[in-house]
Order: sequence, then C-alpha cells, then structure tokens
Amino acid sequence: MSTTTVITGIGELVTNDVERGEEGGLLGIVREAAVVLEGARVAWVGPAADAPDADVQVDAGGRAVIPGFVDSHSHLVFAGDRSAEFEARMTGEPYTAGGIRTTVARTRAASDEQLTSHVGRLVAEMRAQGTTTLEIKSGYGLSVHDEARSLAVARQFTDETTFLGAHVVPADTTPEDYVDLVTGPMLAAAAPHARWIDVFCEDGAFDVDQARAILAAGADSGLRGRLHANQLTYGGGVRLACELGLVAVDHCTFLAGDDVAALVSSGTIATLLPGVEFSTRQPYPDARGLLDAGVRIALASDCNPGSCFTSSMALCIALAVREMRMSPAEALHAATAVGAAALGRDDVGVLAPGRAADLVLLDAPSYVHLAYRPGVPLVAGVWQAGRPVLR
Ligand SMILES: [Zn+2]
Repeated sequence: MSTTTVITGIGELVTNDVERGEEGGLLGIVREAAVVLEGARVAWVGPAADAPDADVQVDAGGRAVIPGFVDSHSHLVFAGDRSAEFEARMTGEPYTAGGIRTTVARTRAASDEQLTSHVGRLVAEMRAQGTTTLEIKSGYGLSVHDEARSLAVARQFTDETTFLGAHVVPADTTPEDYVDLVTGPMLAAAAPHARWIDVFCEDGAFDVDQARAILAAGADSGLRGRLHANQLTYGGGVRLACELGLVAVDHCTFLAGDDVAALVSSGTIATLLPGVEFSTRQPYPDARGLLDAGVRIALASDCNPGSCFTSSMALCIALAVREMRMSPAEALHAATAVGAAALGRDDVGVLAPGRAADLVLLDAPSYVHLAYRPGVPLVAGVWQAGRPVLR
C-alpha cells in the first residue's frame, strides 16, 4: 500500500475541474476543502468535513491550495551569464537574436557535470516556486554532439524535452548547410532523448520554409512539433503552426488578424511568455484580444539566459494580469491546466482523483494573491507526485 496524505483545512482549493467547482468559473474552486494523496496520485477531493482518514495529516490552516504550475517553455541547459547584455539592453541597446551565440560558446565549453549541476539548480529553484512539471529545450549546443548531450542532461529532469537545434545558425556555417545538419545527423542524435522538436522562426533565425522542413523531418523521427513564432516581427510562423495542427505556438507577440483567425480555427494553443517582454522592454502580446476571440492561452516562463532569466510562474501570472489584461483566474488557469494541454498532457494541471498529486500550498487565503502580491514569495509547500518536496 502506498502512503496516504490528507491535506485538510484548505480555505480555497483550485482544482481546475469545472465539474467540481461550486461557484462556476474556470478554476473549479472548492472552499473548506481537503485533498487526499495516495502514492503519486490524487485519491480524493471534497469538503474537509467529509475527508477520509490518511497516514499523514497536514493542516493548511485556511490557506489556498492550487495545482502545481506547468511551465511548458524553458531553456535551462546552458552555461555562462549574460547579465552584461541585459545591462546594456536596459541602457538603450536593442535585443537581437545573435546574443544566443555567446551562450553557445560557453555551453560547448562546459562539462556534462557542470551542465547537469546547473540545470539541477534551476529545476530546484523552479520547484521551490511551485513548478511541478516543466519542459526543457536544447538549443545552446548547435552541434551534433552538444545538442544530443544537452538533451541527455535535460532528460534527467523531465520527460518533456525539446530538440531546438534550429535556435540560430552558428557563425561557422551557412543556413542551407545548417538546416541539412539539423534535419540529418543532429536530429538522428537528438531524437532518442527528445519528445518534441522546435524551431525559432524569426528574422535572423529560420524562415517559414526552413521551419516547415525541420518540423517535417522531426515528425518523421517521431517528434511532435512546437514553434517559437512572431516574437520580434510579424510573419508566417503562427500560421504555419496552425496549418500543421501543432498543439502550441509560443510567443505570439506580433499577430495580424489572419494569425488570430488561424489560431481560433486550428485550436492551437498560444503560449505567451510575458517575462520576455518585461525583460526586453518589448510590447506585450494582446492576451485579452486573443481570449476574447476564443484562443486558448498558456503562460510559461521562457527561462533562458538572454531574453528572460526568470523561473517564476507567479511573476508571469502577475504580468499577465497587470500588463495583458487577463483575469487572475484566466492567468492561473493558463499557468496550470492550459500549460499541461500545451504539452499534450491531461494527467497534470488538474486536481481530481486519478490525476498527478502535484500541488502547491500558498501562504495566502486565495490564488488571487499571486497577482495581488507581485514579487512576494507565497509558496509555503509543494507536493510533487505525492511527495512533499518543499514544506
Ligand atoms: Zn524560448
């Protein structure tokens, strides 16, 4: 028998299970609630007064419990520091995609042990802030050897690994030769360690035709596609993602009317990364317009050393509410249940019997405090697969 834990005295429980919610709305909120965890799964959810006994009792003391955050977009496998580039940008220099190359040189020079320990530190930092599921991309190796080992490192921390050899064209090759490498030997070396394939589809990186070819090659190797698109300029990346029926397309900052129409008709999730706009002083994506048009939005950190070095999903929620006019409920839903959907997952992001026992105790009476108290560390406890990993 696996150990059972009952968390009782939950003043406000966000389940993301609309069937269970007593007040309507996206979040399936239950008040004066309890949750029972059995092994790695949720076994029971309901009113605290009806909760069954368990081996371990935890009293939430009237505070809020939410599903663990699902961060569907991060670039944690890297070495080095680009705080000087950030400082330069904050004093007036524009961000360009070429900054990636400085991290590539440092990442290639790092040992496997150094990369593993650095990723481990960042994953622990995320977990302490309530992230219980995360995606990790490669993309700072850009050689057959360094992309494969980046993914092997990432795979030690998550099943959601993404091959992003097509991050930028390295300085020592031509775009044509590099696309041949990415779709040939590099893909062959990366595919055993990856679930997804991604392309940075942008001026200065890869165009729509190159992205299409790279995603097609990935699909032939069994990798599902994702795309970085329309971050810095208008272009065809979002429409390509929709045409291919990808589960998610990420950034979506510069969208024309037909991009929005394509997102609505395809059902592709728009993953917005407001930490990037915050950290680069770019205009934010039009989350309100997208939601009103019927587009599903996920929020993710894009944690990376260049354009956005935050690992905080709570910051992303606060920015989404303050700067992109999402409601606090829409923002939390986007950072949990829709983030899970953006990874093709239905076992996480929702607290219901049979789902993963991934949950966060907030030192607050309501989830609204995630946006209401920006910058304040509110995570008082984290359970991942039923185990207390922070309490
Ligand atoms: Zn990214």
